[in-house]
Formats: sequence, structure tokens, C-alpha cells
Amino acid sequence: MVMMTFRALTAVRTLLCALHVAVAVLGFSSACFAQSEKPDWCKALPRPEYKTLKRVLPDETWFEVYKVAPATFAIYEPLQFEEAISYLIVGTKQALLFDTGLGIGNIKAVLARLTSRPIVVLNSHTHNDHVGGNWQFPYIFGMDTAFTRANAKGSREDAQAELANDNVCGDLPKGFDRTKYATKPWKISLFVHDGFKVNLGHRTVEIIATPGHTPDAISLIDRENGLLFTGDTFYPGGEIYLYRSETDFPAYLASVKTLATLAPRINLVLGSHDIPVAQPSVLAQLQEAIQSVVDGKIKPKSVNGDEAVYQAGDFSFRMRNPLPALNSSSGAH
Ligand SMILES: [Zn+2]
Repeated sequence: MVMMTFRALTAVRTLLCALHVAVAVLGFSSACFAQSEKPDWCKALPRPEYKTLKRVLPDETWFEVYKVAPATFAIYEPLQFEEAISYLIVGTKQALLFDTGLGIGNIKAVLARLTSRPIVVLNSHTHNDHVGGNWQFPYIFGMDTAFTRANAKGSREDAQAELANDNVCGDLPKGFDRTKYATKPWKISLFVHDGFKVNLGHRTVEIIATPGHTPDAISLIDRENGLLFTGDTFYPGGEIYLYRSETDFPAYLASVKTLATLAPRINLVLGSHDIPVAQPSVLAQLQEAIQSVVDGKIKPKSVNGDEAVYQAGDFSFRMRNPLPALNSSSGAH
């Protein structure tokens, strides 16, 4: 995901608080006191879907770990607004870590409790909330895009925005220094591409390029076990973000179509935020929902300047406003 809207709201709130004395008489002072209350997204947790999942390592505090399929773990960060989910996929020779989360908790320490196999990192895409722990690992696969190479240099701004008051719910890990929080740089060991297969030992996962959300967005399929990891191209439960400058909407539509065609051959869809499991039938529904937005059948639920949110059935899309033209690619990448 990666938040801009919350950041904007927080900036407004900070401004209001700075002007507290001046605005108190106008009745805005509650905006400041609300910071100490639980934000709405946090009040809604835990999400009921987690009740049916098998939790492991229950003593972990920043991460919640769930065994979602044999030798397959969802590593969830419920205390931060992104509710990022990374996945550890374990074979007999090595394990693949699909995303490394926000980099707030020590994901490497959690993995050490789940597997003793060597670990290779592959990111669903390189937004900050998926690559925060990359620096901890020596072996990282990367898509061969300019976007990926730029993000591998690290950054501070998006990371710091993740810590805005409304974005954190509960205690940050012991010893975490919020003033120093940044996405640390990492080194790409090997450039990979659509169709690239990783043999984990009696288990193979394959990259399916699904650009759109970002130029380097991928999905990962474990054909033998019927698992499809969809990154930010699809996750159940939250708004799907398609408004940022790096998003190519026509490419996103094509990628959703690609994923929908895979549905008959998989058992489980595993997205990178909010809720780790969904049924394969959701992919055709996703395609139908986004198409209904394209066809102008859905009016925006809300419009805020150059962003608009469309609700199509169970799906919510944060889009650019107005919607991008579809007869040519944005060509921004
Ligand atoms: Zn993202």
C-alpha cells in the first residue's frame, strides 16, 4: 500500500494542533485530543478472519505469525495501519521470504524461529512497507526495473509517515528509535523476471509479473500446492491503492485479468495486507469490480482533489481523479 491520505490528514491535524490556542474558540481543539484515542482502524481489530487461522509463536509481540498452508507462514504486522503481511515459504533446501515488512520489528529474528534453511528475499514490489527488513538479508532477488533500483537506495520520508500517530496502534518494539526510522538500503543479488522459477527443494515457486500498482509488482505462484501470492495487486479487506504516480492503471487491468485466469488452478489467494487468505473465486470478482469502475457504472464514494474512492461490491479502489484514460499506457515508467 503506502499511505498518502493519512499523511495528509495527519499534517492537517498537526497544523490544527499547532494552532490549538487560536482555533480552540472555533471548536477544533478535539482534533488534538483525538491523537491519544485509538484510531478507528485499530478499534476494528482483531479482524474476525484470523480466528480460523492457526497462530504460531504466540509470544511474538510486534508480529503475529500464522501457518496458512503446509510450510507456509503469514507474518502479519497488526499494530501499524498498513497491516502488512510478509510470507515465509519453506522448501527442503531453502526458504523464500516474500516481502520483509515495515522494518519496525526484527523479522529476521522471527524467521530464525520458523526455519533453519537459508533464506532468499523476493519482494512483491518495492514500496517501503514491503522492503523494510530487506537490509537484514544477504540474498535478495529484484525485478529489473528503474523503480526497483531507485527504491533499493532506501528512503526516509515514506517510512517516517508510517509512524504518524493515527498509524500506530499499541507499543512499538522495545529499543526501536522512531526518530531514526528509515527504509535502509539493500543490495539486489540477482535480477529476476516474469516466469523466473525458484527451486526451494521439493517445492517451486514462479514469478508472475503483475505490473500496475507499481512497475515492479509481481505475484508468486506455487502451482503444486495451489497457492497464489498476489502482493498489493489484490488483498482482501482494505482499499486497493491505484492512485500514486508509479501506478499504471491499464497495466493493472491486464494484471488482474492474468490473475483471474489462474483461479481455476489454485486453492488459496494470499495478499500482502490486512487478511492473508481468500478464495480463488475472488479474482474473477475483482476483475468484474474494477471493470465496473472502468465502465463508469460506479460513482465515486468520495472525491478528495485528485483522488477518488470507488466502492464496487466488496471491493474498494482508491483511484486518481479523474480516472486515467485507457487508450494509452501512462508511460511513466
Ligand atoms: Zn504498495
